[in-house]
Amino acid sequence: MIISGKELSAKLKAEMAREVAAFPEKYGRVPHLVVILVGDNPASVSYVTGKAKASEAVGIRNTTIRRPSEITEQELLSLIKDLNEDDSVDGILVQLPLPEHISEARVIETIAREKDVDGFHPLNVAALWQKQPCILPCTPKGIIKMLKAAGVRISGKRAVVIGRSNIVGLPVAKLLLDENATVTIAHSRTEDLPSLTRQADILVVAIGRPRFVTSDMVSDGTVVIDVGVNRDPETGKLCGDVDYAAIEPKASVITPVPGGVGPMTICCLMENTIECFLERITRR
Ligand code: NAP
Repeated sequence: MIISGKELSAKLKAEMAREVAAFPEKYGRVPHLVVILVGDNPASVSYVTGKAKASEAVGIRNTTIRRPSEITEQELLSLIKDLNEDDSVDGILVQLPLPEHISEARVIETIAREKDVDGFHPLNVAALWQKQPCILPCTPKGIIKMLKAAGVRISGKRAVVIGRSNIVGLPVAKLLLDENATVTIAHSRTEDLPSLTRQADILVVAIGRPRFVTSDMVSDGTVVIDVGVNRDPETGKLCGDVDYAAIEPKASVITPVPGGVGPMTICCLMENTIECFLERITRR
């Protein structure tokens, strides 16, 4: 079974669009997401365009603010602080990566926690690990939604997550743990990775290396979630971290790249923007 993130996200966005359509009458306006793009990295431009398109589909107001890569950290932080104060803004996202002279950590911690639609703010991260209410990071949230939509039982299962980044590996592992999986986190120093991955009922791969996971690393019936987004060195096309052609016949469930986790990440960004809007507007 192939889980199409493209199809699932289209269905969820249509549901959100119906919800948002009632907001002007109910609350006087629609949610407003501001995306800041620094520089003109082609991948970042494409991600930001995807976010604007999804906002349009859902009926969310989207403002993309572009700044040159020479912007100083102080200028960027002061732009974020203005948006924090702006009552018409519900969500703020700064597209990563940033130029080297700007500290990503300082940028992330400057975004008001209640407008942190990416769920990267240290207080949101801390709340996630303490099982407190928080804004969930989009990619891990999307992965859990995909597993549930595919009817995968997570509770009691052995999950192996390859990758321990703050953005994907660690929060995915935490969400799987919260769903009562028994979770192992693997990384670049893990010894004998294949013997570990072969024991997985659910394998989540977030490394960033084309076709790193080969058929011999996966047992029959495994649920395989491929987070990686890479360029195939031979064809130049987008591909995941998993050798899809070889593993798809063995896996009970698998996500393709493109069209898997990526669309679900943007879908969850829309959901987070709506949640931030509702939280702010109903608090008043
Ligand atoms: P990252 O910060 O570079 O982390 C990569 C992780 O992979 C690290 O924890 C690293 O281990 C581990 N790793 C590297 N080589 C390994 C090896 N040979 N064996 C085992 N583990 C290894 O990357 P990231 O931000 O998590 O992103 C991972 C991938 O997901 C990238 O392709 C990225 O483009 C993609 N991504 C996709 C989405 C989406 O929406 N689809 C969202 C975010 C990211 P160490 O910690 O030991 O260095």
